[in-house]
Amino acid sequence: MDRVSTKKILISGASIAGPALALWLGRCGHDVTVVERAATFREGGGAVDYRGSVHREVLARMGVLDTLRGLDTGMGEQAVLDEQGRELLRLPASFMSGELEVTRGDLARTLYEASLPFARYVFGDSVRTLTEHGTGVTVDFEHGPTQDFDLVVGADGIHSTTRRLAFGPEEAYRRDSGWFFSTFSAKAPSHLGLRDSAVLWNDPGRMVGLGNTLGEDGAMLVFHAPGLTYDHRDVAAQKELVLRRFADAGWEVPAVLRSVPGAPDFYFDSLSQIVMDRWSSGRVVLLGDAAWAPAPGGMGNGLAVVGAYVLAGELATAPDHATAFARYEERMRPYAVKCQKQGAGAGRFLAPVTAKQLKQRNRAYRLLCHRTMRGLFEWLTTRTAEAIDLPAYGLSVPSRAEAPVISQL
Ligand SMILES: Cc1cc2nc3c(=O)[nH]c(=O)nc-3n(C[C@H](O)[C@H](O)[C@H](O)COP(=O)(O)OP(=O)(O)OC[C@H]3O[C@@H](n4cnc5c(N)ncnc54)[C@H](O)[C@@H]3O)c2cc1C
Repeated sequence: MDRVSTKKILISGASIAGPALALWLGRCGHDVTVVERAATFREGGGAVDYRGSVHREVLARMGVLDTLRGLDTGMGEQAVLDEQGRELLRLPASFMSGELEVTRGDLARTLYEASLPFARYVFGDSVRTLTEHGTGVTVDFEHGPTQDFDLVVGADGIHSTTRRLAFGPEEAYRRDSGWFFSTFSAKAPSHLGLRDSAVLWNDPGRMVGLGNTLGEDGAMLVFHAPGLTYDHRDVAAQKELVLRRFADAGWEVPAVLRSVPGAPDFYFDSLSQIVMDRWSSGRVVLLGDAAWAPAPGGMGNGLAVVGAYVLAGELATAPDHATAFARYEERMRPYAVKCQKQGAGAGRFLAPVTAKQLKQRNRAYRLLCHRTMRGLFEWLTTRTAEAIDLPAYGLSVPSRAEAPVISQL
């Protein structure tokens, strides 16, 4: 493999993008540290899906495709309900779940475990300052000792600290849609008879999805509240906010809400996108939601693993990091823009704001489910998922036997 030199690289964030990149960089012989703010590995999150040959190829090259196939949720049809809970129509499984659907927790754990032999993980810490100098970046951590790195990668999500330190405040880059979403483990009322299936309830501006897969029940709530502000670190306040927003909702929503206070995996965020005109600054580069969050529906998980592969590949083949970062951006930007375009309509699609818009959405669902139109939606989303040429780079599938010995802290 053509590579200039091995480097000491810090990755901030251990969810999807971070571990995917750690796997590749460690395999290429770099000295990789991943720092994650959470005290332990973060479980939780709803179902995420992969579609098309590009996603399949990257996961296969990483050596995780078969493991993920074994974790497929097996989600079946999803029934769309009216405000009173009466069934209006059924969406085919592939409509929402793509060709491979896993829970975010299972995906993150698979990538974390695959990368563990190739990278050092530090939990419960965060970068505090980044000071770039001629030959590297001096990183001051909130808890650990100050260290020098050759390169720093921000894979720390939509509220990235790395981005704030290297590019400035989040407000300059975050585009809010006005919709918010939350996922958590929830007990589904048994009379709904959910087994490998889901129901989607709406009233104007709100959605409650309740599903059962792999023997577990889970909920996804979406609501429209333009201008709403929240603290992205204060989970207790987020739970209160969700409870208030759905307090007067009908159907089985009160039963769903009873799971909120004790939900250990409660996740809440806005349906927002990150739009930047460059993803690197000197020796610092962004990856995943930190760089291009597309919002749910924009295939953020696919973008994260494809981006990790491309960044590692460009670093392996370019003469220096500046050229690698430029080529990574050139290759990934058109792809990220297409995925963002797809994710931009997620809120309107999931929780239309008025009764009229809700009716129109349901009409569109009916049309897309019709025999003659079936497959159109899948075709459109798969076309977006495949809208990048994947270079070979000569990166080989990592094997545990080849891994260096790395002592975890
Ligand atoms: C617990 C969880 C649940 C989620 N559930 C869903 C879901 O149900 N549906 C959906 O569409 N998307 C969900 N997401 C977001 C989804 O994972 C991303 O949109 C996508 O996979 C891109 O991944 P990413 O690794 O770039 O960013 P993210 O998955 O957002 O991961 C960022 C990681 O960086 C960590 N981090 C943040 N700040 C710092 C810091 N200062 N220092 C170190 N680490 C830091 C975070 O704790 C997190 O582990 C969830 C994310 C998380 C973390």
